[in-house]
Amino acid sequence: MKTRSWRNFGILVAGSLILLAFQSRPAMGQLNVVTTTPTYLSLAKELGAEHVQVKSLMKGGRNVHNILPTPSKMLAMRNADLFIHSGLDLELWVTQLLRGCRNRRIQPGQPANVNAARGIKLKQVPMQISRSKGDLHIYGNPHYQLDPINVILIARTIRDALKKVDAANATDYDRHYKKWERKMKKKLVEWLKKMRPYKGMKIVGYHNVLPYFADRFGLKVIGYVEPKPGITPTASHTVELVNKMRKEGCHVMLVNTWANQATARGVSQRAGATIIAFPEWVGGVKGTGDCIAFFDYQVNSLVKAFGGKAGAKK
Ligand SMILES: [Zn+2]
Repeated sequence: MKTRSWRNFGILVAGSLILLAFQSRPAMGQLNVVTTTPTYLSLAKELGAEHVQVKSLMKGGRNVHNILPTPSKMLAMRNADLFIHSGLDLELWVTQLLRGCRNRRIQPGQPANVNAARGIKLKQVPMQISRSKGDLHIYGNPHYQLDPINVILIARTIRDALKKVDAANATDYDRHYKKWERKMKKKLVEWLKKMRPYKGMKIVGYHNVLPYFADRFGLKVIGYVEPKPGITPTASHTVELVNKMRKEGCHVMLVNTWANQATARGVSQRAGATIIAFPEWVGGVKGTGDCIAFFDYQVNSLVKAFGGKAGAKK
């Protein structure tokens, strides 16, 4: 009798463990992909398709520099088979999550830790690396995801990582990538063509996210509402910026979705400029559910803003 109850207990424990194993893994042997931002989520979904289940730790409209490393995020990372992040100092909150999640697979240096910055040529790289004044962007500007060509490079990095951790489905990942790249390149030609008439147009941003985007489309950034990345604008800085915008004939402001909208409005009204809501990530504003829709939105809203101004004829 005693032996049988032990045997039953053993069966119960084994059953629970199997159940737990199934609960902690996505269905049908799918890879559990966790990403910091919805842009990487969108790419992982596109390239992984039926082989992945994806989760982003943040929403598209949030400020990526200021995300809280909550226990629920740590829990999501504990079960991740692949973790995709921006590297550099864009997501300083990731360090704490990686340390606390106790998932060896996704630690730095492991194939399942995917740094999207791999192979990206950084802009605004400082001569000296220092965070002594609470600076952000100490390794160079980390907002490289706003150039559609960089997004193609990021997609390749994600494809390679998927192939490495799930070699059995490598041909599928290659096929999905090729299909996506074809669509993306076709759209890129369209975006460049739409923006061509506005080459050299001057713009102002809120947080310093624009160098990659502006260079790709030939726009000239003449200033930011934040005097330095992450630093609250002062009255004297905004006065200076307004004067510069008036003097140089800058009529368009690209304002981050998470920015202080009242401050941005104050500047735009004094400078006589149009504000465009500028999301940094997929899903940051309505109708930007994937990378193509995202750049469609950015390009179309700029064309609309420039089209309404006399200077747009150049
Ligand atoms: Zn930044």
